[in-house]
Amino acid sequence: MAARIIDGKEIAREVRAEVKARAHAFREAYGETPALAVVLVGEDPASQIYVANKQKACGWVGIRSVTVRLPETATEDEVLSEIARLNADASISGILVQLPLPRGMNADRVTASVAPEKDVDGFHPINAGRLLRGRAPLEPCTPAGCVRLLKKAGVPLAGANAVVVGRSNIVGKPLAMMLLRENCTVTICHSRTENLADFVRRADIVVSAVGHPRMITAGMVKPGAAVIDVGINRLPDGTLTGDVDFEGVREVAGWITPVPGGVGPMTIAMLLKNTMDAAENARSTV
Ligand code: NDP
Repeated sequence: MAARIIDGKEIAREVRAEVKARAHAFREAYGETPALAVVLVGEDPASQIYVANKQKACGWVGIRSVTVRLPETATEDEVLSEIARLNADASISGILVQLPLPRGMNADRVTASVAPEKDVDGFHPINAGRLLRGRAPLEPCTPAGCVRLLKKAGVPLAGANAVVVGRSNIVGKPLAMMLLRENCTVTICHSRTENLADFVRRADIVVSAVGHPRMITAGMVKPGAAVIDVGINRLPDGTLTGDVDFEGVREVAGWITPVPGGVGPMTIAMLLKNTMDAAENARSTV
């Protein structure tokens, strides 16, 4: 039987509807609108599109969007001082630094300068450490979106063998921690893993976050497994594809996410949720 397709667009719509209701209640309670500040340095064309998409998504749910644009020639100190200003501004609920930063700028130093309580990307070392210990108030959006998709689809998590392919700080590692929290038995694979197919074949849940088109093929997947495709790859003809050979794997898997329309829409939805969480957390601590 062909896999059930997990519709990320639909589930993201549900998350946005929840956030919209919370933003409305926040305004009613405090007379203020939650706000997301995005710091954009330079003219990277892809970053311009991502930022525009985030602004649009904020508009849908009633979150105020503030974009701080700095030129490619800005110094790291100038970026840090903008972030310090946003950290101190009580009307700003969440801050996100759009990556990549121009060459020569230390992305770790810049992202670590965002106040942990406004770190809606969940990349700050304090939030990463809290996640490692169990739970952080703000957690990375893409992995949080993957877990939301699995839960919403009704995939059994406790006791499942989960294989995460990719170990980045943005996706693979935090996702492994989140699946561990859900009582999965987690294996993390990476570019130096030997016999990747053997690991994947044993998995009840496979999440691929690599960036290699169609590297997860039907022969690698256990019948009935849930396959979550985080990868975004542009083929020479311009089409987008994930890390998973969707047409082949859907014949074997129990659940599968498409690309586009799977994890992608969840990432922005979870960013909106984090902004709302940050706004509410700030109110509950005053
Ligand atoms: P990174 O490049 O930071 O990490 C890629 C990971 O894949 C690394 O850990 C690397 O291993 C591993 N890897 C590379 N080659 C292989 C291989 N042959 N076998 C097994 N593992 C391998 O990427 P990101 O985590 O930032 O992103 C991964 C993908 O997800 C990209 O396609 C990106 O565009 C997409 N993405 C999608 C998002 C969404 O919203 N849908 C959000 C974020 C990312 P090693 O550590 O050994 O180098």
